[in-house]
Amino acid sequence: MRVLHVSPEVRTLNKVGGLGDVAFELPKALAELGGAETAVVAPLTGRAAELMEVGPRRGGPLFELCVPLDFRCHRVEVRRVELEPGPEIWAISSPLLDGKPVYPSSEAEGLTTTFPLLALSVLEGVSRGIWGEVDLIHVHDWPGAMVPLFARFHRYYGGLEWPPFVLSIHNMAHQGLYDPGVLDEWHLHGRVLSVEVGEFWGKLNVLKAGIVLSSCVLTVSPSYAEEIRNPEFGFGLDGVARSVGYKLFGILNGIDEGYWNPSTDPHIPFNYGPSDLEGKRRCKELLLEEMSLGPREGPLFCVVSRVVRQKGFDLLAQALPEMLASGVMVLVLGSGERELVDGIRSAARGFEDRFKLLETFDEALSRRIYAGSDFLLMPSLYEPCGVSQLIAMRYGTLPVARRVGGIRDTVVDVDEGGFGFLFQEYTVQALLGAFRRALSWYRERPKELELASRRAMTLDLSWRRAVDQYLYVYNLLRRR
Ligand code: ADP
Repeated sequence: MRVLHVSPEVRTLNKVGGLGDVAFELPKALAELGGAETAVVAPLTGRAAELMEVGPRRGGPLFELCVPLDFRCHRVEVRRVELEPGPEIWAISSPLLDGKPVYPSSEAEGLTTTFPLLALSVLEGVSRGIWGEVDLIHVHDWPGAMVPLFARFHRYYGGLEWPPFVLSIHNMAHQGLYDPGVLDEWHLHGRVLSVEVGEFWGKLNVLKAGIVLSSCVLTVSPSYAEEIRNPEFGFGLDGVARSVGYKLFGILNGIDEGYWNPSTDPHIPFNYGPSDLEGKRRCKELLLEEMSLGPREGPLFCVVSRVVRQKGFDLLAQALPEMLASGVMVLVLGSGERELVDGIRSAARGFEDRFKLLETFDEALSRRIYAGSDFLLMPSLYEPCGVSQLIAMRYGTLPVARRVGGIRDTVVDVDEGGFGFLFQEYTVQALLGAFRRALSWYRERPKELELASRRAMTLDLSWRRAVDQYLYVYNLLRRR
């Protein structure tokens, strides 16, 4: 069975968040553990072009395609990318994508061109067989949802036959809303704007169309598949989610346990495993030294995240003064919305010796932080799955997190024999309650805390179970 994954981001090329990890690791696991033939197609955006120039094996253009957009024919190159061992990755390269951000937010950044170009390249490539005989197209988030949309309503491609589509929703908040004026530019039939398909308050909603047009809709955790049926988490599409309940399921993400492995990770100063946490203690010492943080014997709480409202940064800003006043250290790695970054910084004012915010995206640094911290703070407003808490757990760093979405499905509270400190309500008091529990375990129950840490490290977080579930879905749907 040959499955083509289509994603706006993929690790090694242009990762921004968890989707970048999943778009890399899931196809790899499907191939290695499930025997499926997989390939990933992503646009050459973000830092990708730079990497392609310096990578060990540059991806040369293997195919050239012409795709029709905005009344012109655009030449795109399809390149095979091999920056690291992993799945078969194909990058779509075009002058229209050069220097553009992974997620454009304005016309000048490519809002109306990037993902239509990706979708058209996929359809043109599939129709020409450049990826072989494709049995199923698995698209990710609203940028991927452009593919089923164009496959059905494009004036040319809409008349052809396509393999079935599976849509994975990694974040329901982002839907791809466009003024109907783009339909002409994209050569789409006006029927797409019917309320049964893509119409949403007078606009075209790409995610909605993708949900309607895909044979199966998946979310990245079972809890999130339930939550998006409610107004609180559905972002206006909860009714649509309810109406497609018969084809909507959640499959919990895993992580690549070979790639995220403290006993072999070459990016951390000392390797360690669940049977010997000495290396973790030494990683912490070095990290505190590197970050000039103290007191050395106190607990270190970290955050590794995009700085956006979804991740609970407003709660964190309100809770920080009390947290820091109680003597802990907090290290934040992430960049994002200016207002939230400033909020965090000003909340920590006066505690410069105990607090650091690093406004950068750096995977090697993130690994040192996961390894050297005691706790991961993750007070998410909503969380489709969450990859950060999985990596943290693998490195023996215990989540202090809100019981929501994928966190609910992956983190068990210490009071229930688990390895996390969970809270329910999205309030500062609730967050502080979980924080105080973590602190008291650190100070008063160190042996039990260490056991919890070992428990987290020995969990099966692999893709094994997910692969079986994806294959089950694929086999039901594939072209026979
Ligand atoms: P998201 O909602 O952003 O997808 P996830 O928890 O699912 O959140 O995944 C985040 C991924 O991005 C994890 O692999 C995390 O380690 C990584 N990440 C987030 N911010 C940074 C950063 N500033 N530097 C390095 N890695 C980061």
